[in-house]
Amino acid sequence: MFYKVIKGFLIFQILILFSSTTALSQKLSYTRPEITNSFSAYKKQCKEDTLKRMVELKKLIPSLVYDLRYASTHNFMNRLMYPQNTKITFLRLSAAKALQQVQEELSKQGLGLKIFDAYRPYSVTEKFWELVKDERYVANPAKGSGHNRGAAVDLTIIHLTNAAELNMGTGFDNFTDTAHQTFTKLPEEVLKNRLLLKSIMEKHGFLALETEWWHYYLPDSKKYELLNIPFKKLAKE
Ligand SMILES: [Zn+2]
Repeated sequence: MFYKVIKGFLIFQILILFSSTTALSQKLSYTRPEITNSFSAYKKQCKEDTLKRMVELKKLIPSLVYDLRYASTHNFMNRLMYPQNTKITFLRLSAAKALQQVQEELSKQGLGLKIFDAYRPYSVTEKFWELVKDERYVANPAKGSGHNRGAAVDLTIIHLTNAAELNMGTGFDNFTDTAHQTFTKLPEEVLKNRLLLKSIMEKHGFLALETEWWHYYLPDSKKYELLNIPFKKLAKE
């Protein structure tokens, strides 16, 4: 009787193991790349390269305006993707310093930056993929995103006096050709505004993404690890 119970239990365990690995392989249609999940591992990486430190952007650049779309339902998913009331955002020190220079230069013209998104924890990229599964719109978790590396930022230009956005022809996360950098069938003013953003971001070391006028990233972004550390944890530094 005892052995029978043990045998039955083992079979049950094997079945559970089998079904859970099957479920996992069905759920994950990609291979997870190497991700830094632990805060201590991240700290160690920062010790080796101080430019890897994640900086809360307003701490370095207080005049920035945030419109963190994934911390609200005002995004293309119409879903809250970050913890509710997330009011902070991060970039690696190298990217944050470059952004500070952009802001400084814009301020001389009475302009400034509005941030839609910067660092995005890897688990959120997986959540996007689960819901969309289309590389035209979201990053494939097999590769991760520059946002996961803290080396990509989504932004636009605003007037400092009233925080009004410059006309860029489309809103943020507009996944049509009109949002492409090479799309030129747009009013002169829009082309001029897009060129202003592109030239000033490139001047300070960022690269533009062809398909999204709002997305900029560091050329060496791959050297920064993909992170899956919550905003709150980074804020405690
Ligand atoms: Zn982006």
